Amino acid sequence: MLSYQHAYHAGNFADVHKHLTLFAVIDHLLRKESPVTYMDTHAGRGLYPLAAEETARLGEYRKGFARLWQARTHVADDPLLGDWLAAVGRVQARDGTLDHYPGSPWWLSDRLRASDRLMLFELHPGEHGHLTRQALPDNVQRIHGDGLEGLVKCLPVATPRLCVLVDPSYERKAEYGEVVDAVLKAMRRARHAVVLVWYPLLPAGRHRELLEGLREGGLRKIWRSELRLREPQEGERGMVGSGMLVINPPWGLDTRLEAAMRQVTPLLGATCRHHGDWWVGE
Ligand code: SAM
Repeated sequence: MLSYQHAYHAGNFADVHKHLTLFAVIDHLLRKESPVTYMDTHAGRGLYPLAAEETARLGEYRKGFARLWQARTHVADDPLLGDWLAAVGRVQARDGTLDHYPGSPWWLSDRLRASDRLMLFELHPGEHGHLTRQALPDNVQRIHGDGLEGLVKCLPVATPRLCVLVDPSYERKAEYGEVVDAVLKAMRRARHAVVLVWYPLLPAGRHRELLEGLREGGLRKIWRSELRLREPQEGERGMVGSGMLVINPPWGLDTRLEAAMRQVTPLLGATCRHHGDWWVGE
């Protein structure tokens, strides 16, 4: 049963971390002309009006993206953050007012070139319905189905390069293992793919199964980025941080993101820290 809906969390601190990393990866890939196939295995709705009932109810974006938006004139000196914030500015209905937050399908399609391809998988019928109503370019395919199965089935792709975002909600504990299986299968069929995997940092530390599984599966070149809001308190069960793995990261991605995160963390709270390192080296 699928109950998670990203609209309740759109623009929160984890989205800031995930989408800034995704934006930076796309920016690096666009430095070369050869076409890219992008896949988003867990797409969600694509664009989130902040006034929508679901998003307004928890208002998580207020402690997440909205803090960067309010500080945009101060943090825009960082080139990556400046470009990212300018891109978010383009989806706003009214100049200078934050009324929409873009999800991964928007980020992936915004700078899609005619020679690139984008496949968006979404299993939830309602969320897929929202996605089909988004205005997206012709070279975007929206698939109502399982993204992990779809990823493996669609490989190899026709373009020389491949970039995949794997962003489940981890509602089920089994999803950590399912992600490991799918990513290992995909990397056997597309060794040079750039793959981004998001995971939550929970007090229970369930993400360790994911990290160990990818390392034990023999993958090399995995960069890890973790944004931790705070240390968990006694008995706490909710998300205290956000993690991203980038398999085969473009050269220079790590230093660019570290610099941007130095500006981001103080805005997200006094105890917020970012840590980047190689989970598995070359
Ligand atoms: N990637 C989106 C973004 O950054 O804007 C957010 C995605 S949200 C965290 C996870 C989404 O995956 C939900 O919309 C959920 O319905 C969908 N989902 C859950 N299981 C799935 C599966 N096996 N295949 C495809 N989509 C799935």
